[in-house]
Amino acid sequence: MIRVFICPECGKTRLVSKLLRADCRRCGAAMRLCDIPYSKWVELSEEEREAVSGRLTHLKEEEQTGRDTGRSEGGASYRPGG
Ligand SMILES: [Zn+2]
Repeated sequence: MIRVFICPECGKTRLVSKLLRADCRRCGAAMRLCDIPYSKWVELSEEEREAVSGRLTHLKEEEQTGRDTGRSEGGASYRPGG
């Protein structure tokens, strides 16, 4: 039985056949077992997989749009770049 693992850190997915746990090969974090079986996973589209992956990760934070940070007018701010 093949299981689908998803990395909660970077969202990378892995298919594992025997192991009950898996580590991410990208960042080394302990991956989380996806509740979607492999037989279902292969039928998902790329967008649906990303949606599932995003649900299990904390990467996708709700963006706040139109937030006023109170910028000052009339003055070019100079930032010494690194
Ligand atoms: Zn990872």
